[in-house]
Amino acid sequence: MMVFIDGRFYAKKNAKISVFDHGFLYGDGIYETMRSYNGIVFKIEQHIKRLFESAKLISLKLPYSKQEIKNSVYKTIKTNNFKNAYIRLSFSRGVGEIGLDTDLCKKPTLVIIAKRFKPFSAKLYREGIKMIIAKTRRNPSEAISPEIKSTNFLNNILAKIEAKKKDVFEAIMLNLDGFVTEGTVSNIFIVKNNILKTPSKKAGILVGVTRNHILQLAKKLEIKTEETFLKPDDLYTADECFITNTSVEIMPVRFVDTQRISVNGEITRKLIENFR
Ligand code: PLP
Repeated sequence: MMVFIDGRFYAKKNAKISVFDHGFLYGDGIYETMRSYNGIVFKIEQHIKRLFESAKLISLKLPYSKQEIKNSVYKTIKTNNFKNAYIRLSFSRGVGEIGLDTDLCKKPTLVIIAKRFKPFSAKLYREGIKMIIAKTRRNPSEAISPEIKSTNFLNNILAKIEAKKKDVFEAIMLNLDGFVTEGTVSNIFIVKNNILKTPSKKAGILVGVTRNHILQLAKKLEIKTEETFLKPDDLYTADECFITNTSVEIMPVRFVDTQRISVNGEITRKLIENFR
């Protein structure tokens, strides 16, 4: 595996950044995860657009154009000879003296890691995953906006620890008002009375590229959609439920806490069939 760091490729064991990088010291950075299918990076423009939006929200000036970043992503998968890859691109604030002043860092550090994509087991897609509603709440937009795809990920990691302790695939976080937001690395959808519902951006979520694609796809398939506010009871009583992200695409949910939900209902199946 060759890792791209600031314009050069390094073998995995030599791919290192400074201990003075503010990404390491303070979790001060942003990232995107992407997937390539047969050498084509799915929705790369949308990912790069969101990257620039995240950068803006943390006042980080990216030293490359969108086209240069796109070229670097493709160069990384080509150098590794990957057709179907998982790609993680991150920008940290860069190397600087210890201190919170962002001016201590002169240039953001760009890292692109690509791995061969390993599909999740067919059993999970067939039988659905288990998930819990975490005790950890999603941090409010007024503190750190969940719209920033930030390398500062402790909020999500705390919820993931809860999921791991319960031996389930994902944990859903509520906002401070008790409304459903999203999973640790995924957005959530339910189907109720033939309407596809997902938490509104106003609930405090990362607006997933996959989420947006599914909402568009649903409109094309003439499935009614609502971006709304959901309570835990809406998940417990859902007719269908699934999570989405770049890696899993659409993953059906079988259990939310102890409540069982029917898997691969008609709308979930239709969306899975038409996704690509
Ligand atoms: N929400 C969070 C917190 C995430 O980390 C992710 C992806 O990693 C998503 C949602 C889904 O986003 P996307 O569909 O763009 O992968």
